[in-house]
Amino acid sequence: MTTTLQFLGAAGCVTGSCYLLSTPEAKVLIDCGLFQGPKTLKALNYEPFPFKPDSIDAVLLTHAHIDHSGLIPKLSKAGFDREIFATSDTVRLCGVLLPDAGAIQEMEVEALNKRRRRLGEEDLEPIFTIDDARESLRLMRPTPLGEWRAVAPGLRARWWHAGHILGAASIEVEVAQEAGQSPLRVLFSGDVGPGGRDVTEDPEGPTGLDHLVLESTYGAAERAMLTPEDRRAQLAKIVLAAHAAGGPLLIPAFAVERTQELIVDLIDLMEQNQAPPGTIFLDSPLAIKACDVFLRHGGPANDNPYAVLRESRLLQFTESANESRHLERIRGWHVIIAASGMCDAGRVRHHLKRLLWRPEATVLLVGFQPVGTLGRLLIEGRKTVSIQGDKVQVRADIQYLDIYSGHADGPGLTAWAQARGPIIGNVFLTHGEPENLKGLRNRLLDLGHDKDRVVIADLDAIYKLRGEAAETQVSTPRLAAGMPSRLDWHNSRASFLSALEHQLRDAKDDQAREALLNTLTALLARTPGGMPAES
Ligand SMILES: [Zn+2]
Repeated sequence: MTTTLQFLGAAGCVTGSCYLLSTPEAKVLIDCGLFQGPKTLKALNYEPFPFKPDSIDAVLLTHAHIDHSGLIPKLSKAGFDREIFATSDTVRLCGVLLPDAGAIQEMEVEALNKRRRRLGEEDLEPIFTIDDARESLRLMRPTPLGEWRAVAPGLRARWWHAGHILGAASIEVEVAQEAGQSPLRVLFSGDVGPGGRDVTEDPEGPTGLDHLVLESTYGAAERAMLTPEDRRAQLAKIVLAAHAAGGPLLIPAFAVERTQELIVDLIDLMEQNQAPPGTIFLDSPLAIKACDVFLRHGGPANDNPYAVLRESRLLQFTESANESRHLERIRGWHVIIAASGMCDAGRVRHHLKRLLWRPEATVLLVGFQPVGTLGRLLIEGRKTVSIQGDKVQVRADIQYLDIYSGHADGPGLTAWAQARGPIIGNVFLTHGEPENLKGLRNRLLDLGHDKDRVVIADLDAIYKLRGEAAETQVSTPRLAAGMPSRLDWHNSRASFLSALEHQLRDAKDDQAREALLNTLTALLARTPGGMPAES
């Protein structure tokens, strides 16, 4: 009985999580996420799935984050109509996140189509709409933690608390073998939390596996273990400095990536006079809806750490686009939290456009910023960025605090993996950029793992799973090796245009400007069709 595992996303990059587990009797997907980051990678969202959607028997979902769940509506639109298993909190959060992703799709494609029509080009179709998203929610089946569930012929699965976001789980899958043989056991980590937090439980999991698929987001990183007090102290420092600079403080945040925890901390600091009190505007309809889920299910009714989200007068929700626009007129010290956390979608772009060039403003980035996102460019210290086609100078103070990302660091991931042992087959490393994948691999090798068994999975690679070492099978990758986390030509074009602008502005006179443009024009004329690619 051959079982294979194909890595259809989060391979060599941190987004688009999707693994296809196939046996002679069944096919299941573990996660079905959206690709984010460089345009070359995002283009995969628009292509047909590299499998037949109606051949899939079930989807097992680790958690609600869009890079794990965001293509579920596309899957159901393409003909998948079986069950999607996930914890009840994940189902609730998907109920908020997926229709919102559909709305963003519809809006973005409409804006693109306006431009395309002016150029005489054909309209594009959204990957999926709000209605497609709502339709796909009907397939979701809430699944309790810790209980075996038959998910497809010959396959059962069990969800384990992953300590990442509300509802997040690792999924253990057992594949029945021929009579007399013990089942094949594979664990999919999903995103693993750091543990030791006051609002979530520590990540857990089963022991004794054939294979482990392990996320590597912060695989090369090492962070001090923070107590809740340390965490709030770090945040207080930034809030105080932002206030001293004149304000406001803008925080691009993921709707459910610890945003609620960040707000609880901010309110706490302000109410305890450890940070200057000012109104906190939550300017994200999605995050506001997510707050509701946290208020109802974030903890026991009489001791819910998120209760202040309802009670504090410091917090104001700006639901409508009109209220959001009015924030421009607010004077005096205030904080704005707006999605998206990577700065590449949502209302935050509008606030960045009006605040980035102001030296008195502070932008605080929280959470992981993948290659190719505006958030990453800001952390890297870009002096000019482009937002919705407009160039904006960066003069605001850019701060980065990755204590709200909900991911374990390198030592945390290795400790969690060690606690799952013995693992007799492979550890497949996924969901990381190359340096973090390599970093985590080295940590596992230092602990005595066999170098042939710790595998960095390539996009679209297929492995035949046996009890011991897995065997590679021939596959056709959609992107060249290394491509998933490399900046592409769109980024190069933006850098080039920005450099050209600077050169033109700083040139000593118009003659020098003319000369520069002439030289470049002559060079373009000599290279029709572009330069041959360097090998
Ligand atoms: Zn996640």
